[in-house]
Amino acid sequence: MDDSTLYPSGLRLDGRRVLVVGGGEVAQRRVPQLIAAGADVHVVSPDVTPAIEGLVGSGEVSWHRREFAEADLAEAWYAVAATDDAGVNQRVSAAAEQHRVFCVRADDAQQGTAWTPAVGRHDGLTVAVLGSREPRRSAALRDEVVEGLREGRLGSAPERPRTAGVTLVGGGPGRPELMSIAGYQALMEADVVVADRLAPRELLGDLPDDVELLDVAKLPRGRSAQQEAINQVIVERALAGSRVVRFKGGDNFVFGRGYEEVIACREAGVPVTVIPGLTSPVAVPAVAGIPVTHRGITHDFTVVSGHLPPGHPESLVAWDAIARMQGTVVLMMAVHNAPAIATALVEGGRAPGTPVAVVCDGTMPTERTVLATLGTLADQLEAERVQAPAIIVVGEVVRVAHPEVGD
Ligand code: SAH
Repeated sequence: MDDSTLYPSGLRLDGRRVLVVGGGEVAQRRVPQLIAAGADVHVVSPDVTPAIEGLVGSGEVSWHRREFAEADLAEAWYAVAATDDAGVNQRVSAAAEQHRVFCVRADDAQQGTAWTPAVGRHDGLTVAVLGSREPRRSAALRDEVVEGLREGRLGSAPERPRTAGVTLVGGGPGRPELMSIAGYQALMEADVVVADRLAPRELLGDLPDDVELLDVAKLPRGRSAQQEAINQVIVERALAGSRVVRFKGGDNFVFGRGYEEVIACREAGVPVTVIPGLTSPVAVPAVAGIPVTHRGITHDFTVVSGHLPPGHPESLVAWDAIARMQGTVVLMMAVHNAPAIATALVEGGRAPGTPVAVVCDGTMPTERTVLATLGTLADQLEAERVQAPAIIVVGEVVRVAHPEVGD
């Protein structure tokens, strides 16, 4: 059949029985979308992949552990022939024809009576691209359309009802691509953006011209005064009817004082939403090629603020306990106090030869990694003139990535 005579249609499969014959990789790719459509999915196959078995275990699909039989089509509204045997698929589609059930042939789309499009969704729209001969081209086009919708280049959205409020958006460790899609959308829809020094600044250049951009660095100095001023400005602007985004580096709840802002909004009756970000103590080492856990090496990792030195009267960190643990220690805001922290960890029982990696400007073009051990950290930081922002990873995971450390 010629592609151009195909009649596109959207099916409501919720609660309706759908037959999937075959339990391999192909079926595995089709089944989740059928489940998402609410279909009553019945898989007929002597064997299924572990992933499908998982769906059976969780009650999301029914599995009939046997060969296909024509009676399987009796109650079905829709069928997918997804075995790796063309003969079986042929029998399924012939039987489907008899029963007037539309049937997809996963092995040879041309032979089926229904085709599966490449599907994408955005903001209440479903994009489906049908093209049996070039599935990659269909998928690429689907991606382009969805991206265009997302970025507002295509199908400019009708004015949405404006919901004033505050959204805390985590910008990730620095490189713009490392923030979430949800976070980016919230940012682009904001009327007011209150941004921090560590938030991915390049993205602010994408903001429409009429967006009010407030730079926290320009607010009054002093840790509590500044936070007070931020709380006040986000609440005021939201009460005046604006959509406010509080844009921070990493995740707003990881040493970001985000929850103080949540409390301030709640007290003022301002709706507040949270969109998490990739947090730097995990993402920065990852991008630098250092895992925070590794099988057989560590069963824990601890993220600690080093903004106060060990022994400081206001410190809430039990450095002696951390020293006694085995696992990875990730230090943040710790460049200044790193020598004192290294000393405390060694005094508490960690070996002076414990490897250390200092990742500076993680994910940015200026990123670099300085290697040391607890014993040499102070000297290395000075020799390499390390400055914030940096993530300091302490533990044997560093040696997994850098066997040469400490040589
Ligand atoms: N909310 C942020 C952390 C804020 S505290 C998050 O979830 O990541 C600031 C500290 O984060 C810095 O002192 C530094 O230790 C770390 N940091 C954040 N971004 C970083 C980056 N790109 N490279 C290295 N360290 C980073």
